[in-house]
Amino acid sequence: MSIGSKPGREMPTPQGSPPRQLIDRGALHRILRDRAEQSGVRIHGGKKLIRVDERPDGVTAHFADGTSASADILIGADGVHSTVRRLIDPNAPGARYLNLLGFEGVVDDAADTAELEPGTMTFAFGRRAYYLYWKRPDGRIGWGANLPSEQYLTLREARTVAAEDWLHTLRGTYANDIPGARLAAETTSDTLQAIGGLHIMPPVPHWHRGRMVLVGDAVHAPSNSTGQGASLAMESAIQLARCLRDLPDAPSAFAAYERLRRPRVEKIAARGARISHAKAPGPVAQRLMRVMVPLMVKTLNIEKTMAAEQSYTIDWDAPVQEDAITLA
Ligand SMILES: Cc1cc2nc3c(=O)[nH]c(=O)nc-3n(C[C@H](O)[C@H](O)[C@H](O)COP(=O)(O)OP(=O)(O)OC[C@H]3O[C@@H](n4cnc5c(N)ncnc54)[C@H](O)[C@@H]3O)c2cc1C
Repeated sequence: MSIGSKPGREMPTPQGSPPRQLIDRGALHRILRDRAEQSGVRIHGGKKLIRVDERPDGVTAHFADGTSASADILIGADGVHSTVRRLIDPNAPGARYLNLLGFEGVVDDAADTAELEPGTMTFAFGRRAYYLYWKRPDGRIGWGANLPSEQYLTLREARTVAAEDWLHTLRGTYANDIPGARLAAETTSDTLQAIGGLHIMPPVPHWHRGRMVLVGDAVHAPSNSTGQGASLAMESAIQLARCLRDLPDAPSAFAAYERLRRPRVEKIAARGARISHAKAPGPVAQRLMRVMVPLMVKTLNIEKTMAAEQSYTIDWDAPVQEDAITLA
């Protein structure tokens, strides 16, 4: 972790935990898709769900291209702007914008990053904005920027702005940070990726209704600060699969799934919300951060706060009981 231009305060990790692994998002998607296809799952791209028809014995999903598909249940894994969430409950809360826009870039290694150990990631509270950077397996430096912005932009909108214009803003924002200034200066328009607004999901009152259920960001998107969103989505998918395997019908499976998952995901989301707040501080809070963060790192009970998040295991073979209680 680094604060301002002072690098190198190490975040302790829980004792006995295996090292955290960094996996490229595209690689993860390829692995999951290949495995699903090998198991006989058919994947159809370009289908936009617009509405559903529910019957006592099944559910039919209707897509924008006029096609439809029927099944016993419908699992809404449709992300932070979920359509299924609104179909389950028209009054469901929407994702909250964190007043931060996300960007990613890649640059060559240089003197100011040469000492980075491969496999470590630095979280940097720069003078005007938070950023993070790490050494990639190819020896280059990957970095991510969280740019404070009152204006919300979707991924699509952020990508309509010329990359050169974003780079100009990022270079101004990180001008006084080491190595932030160089990371921004050396990122080129063809390697900059604009992600758009970063979000968090407030607690969702209804996770399921009838034959529809939510999983992943659609129901529990923690802030990206937690680094847990994809992990939580996969955990929930596995727990939902166990409940569907072991319980007699969809309503009891969905209810047990919610009982197993809600406490854990909401606890992690609450921690993420606190970190995100610290990432977009005002000028006074920014000065305080430089004093507070080192103190927090020294006094934080990492065993207690992080161990529960990082050492969560699921016993796939253990049968789920109908009255499943929390394992969070
Ligand atoms: C900047 C950033 C950094 C992150 N870093 C990490 C990290 O380090 N570690 C981590 O674990 N997580 C991280 N996350 C979070 C992680 O990306 C998400 O938690 C994860 O992608 C959630 O997966 P999901 O399948 O639930 O939703 P998504 O990945 O959002 O997938 C939803 C899918 O549904 C589709 N869809 C949406 N609406 C419809 C519709 N109406 N019809 C049909 N399809 C639809 C979308 O096109 C999309 O393909 C990060 C997120 C961000 C933004």
